[in-house]
Amino acid sequence: MTSEKKVRVRIAPSPTGSFHIGNARTALFNWLFAQAHGGEFILRIEDTDKERSQKKFEEDIIYGLKWLGLEWDEFYRQSDRTEIYKDYLGQLLQSGKAYYCFCSKEELEEQRQAMLVQGLAPKYSGKCRTLNPDDALQKVKNEEAYVVRLKIPDVKVSFQDIIRGHIEFDGALMGDIVIAKEGGEPLYNFAVTVDDTLSGITHIIRGEDHISNTPRQIFIMQALGFEPPQFAHLPMILNPDRSKISKRYNSVALTDYIKQGYVKEALVNFLALIGWHPKGDEEVMGVQELIKQFDLKKAQKGGAVFSQEKLDWFNNHYIKAMGDEELLTLAQSFVPKVWKLNTAMVNTVRGRVNRLDELEDLLRFYFEIPDYPVTLLRWKDMNLGVVELNLNKMKDAIGNLDTHSSGDAIEKELLGAIGNGKRGEMLWPLRVALSGQENSPGPFEIIEALGKQESLRRINLALQRLDIPETH
Ligand code: GLU
Repeated sequence: MTSEKKVRVRIAPSPTGSFHIGNARTALFNWLFAQAHGGEFILRIEDTDKERSQKKFEEDIIYGLKWLGLEWDEFYRQSDRTEIYKDYLGQLLQSGKAYYCFCSKEELEEQRQAMLVQGLAPKYSGKCRTLNPDDALQKVKNEEAYVVRLKIPDVKVSFQDIIRGHIEFDGALMGDIVIAKEGGEPLYNFAVTVDDTLSGITHIIRGEDHISNTPRQIFIMQALGFEPPQFAHLPMILNPDRSKISKRYNSVALTDYIKQGYVKEALVNFLALIGWHPKGDEEVMGVQELIKQFDLKKAQKGGAVFSQEKLDWFNNHYIKAMGDEELLTLAQSFVPKVWKLNTAMVNTVRGRVNRLDELEDLLRFYFEIPDYPVTLLRWKDMNLGVVELNLNKMKDAIGNLDTHSSGDAIEKELLGAIGNGKRGEMLWPLRVALSGQENSPGPFEIIEALGKQESLRRINLALQRLDIPETH
């Protein structure tokens, strides 16, 4: 770092769509960087595009950041700051560093074509640069349509990207850029520059797709006499076919992942590893560990593929590791309200889910016993008479249990009752009677989850079924 200044970073999302997973990753990298350096993290809502910005998207961004645990120290909204931008725009116009441009769309297109014909890379011709400022002001007063352009000098501009090293652009190829629309309404590059400077941002950490904006912003900063901060451009997140991440392969809205039942710890851990890797091999890292190890300089340059399998793996891992109470509360929000889950139920299936929205199907049998064929109660080629006998034996053993017994106590009691008998012939019918399913958690766990009374009721139901003569 070149200065001793307190690190100040920001996430600057535009509320023109749901909070994007790429923005979530950028926010996380900024936040981790701030935490790692004892700095501050700022949220700035970039809603200068009035047509596309919507309050509901701002709310979605705020919800997503909070959900991820990325709390900010300061908050700004660009639409609250229009007077500030106008002030700086006025300064640039006054000093002649910016000027009014009255070229129409058609004229701009003509200029562009003319340059292409000459074999030149198209850029603004600079036509209005030489207008007399008084004449230009008169045109503005006469309500002629205009934009404001910044004079871009014919010089090279460079910066030292923390991840990519030296990057250079040629102002001569750029042409005078538009920094404000009619009425002094600032455009992205201009508003960003003013805000980043006024809020004392020390490091701009954002996606690689903004690299070409950086020289523009540096030119604006130079014109305003601002000192540019440091820059770091993060690699893009890619689809498996290495195209830019899109809905075609993955959900791109953070809320989709939340709705599908990805847990915060998994998403944070996973997102931190998109484009960055710790020194060692251990990838499972809680947030404190991430802060400890995070090193922006070690971020990769090339695009980083979004691996759904990896995310699922992390999610499965964190669900398995989660405390009972926390998981119970979360799980309850993923099943119908009328299902009253308990910890034992959730624990019978927690190891099997990659996403919490799989819980509803896995837990359904606790609340709606499926209509199973009586033959499912048979282990291999057992005869139904033996099934009945064995179920009665198990029923007696369960009758000896306390109302709420632990899985261990249940196992001990039931295995004791089986003694030297064939376990499969005892436990299979019991398990099917309890779950109504071919595959399910084991019988001891289910009994613990259902409790003694409900377990006995289900065994009785199975016994009644056995009494009904089979029609086929
Ligand atoms: N509003 C821009 C975006 O959402 C912010 C870019 C930046 O970080 O400067 O992409």
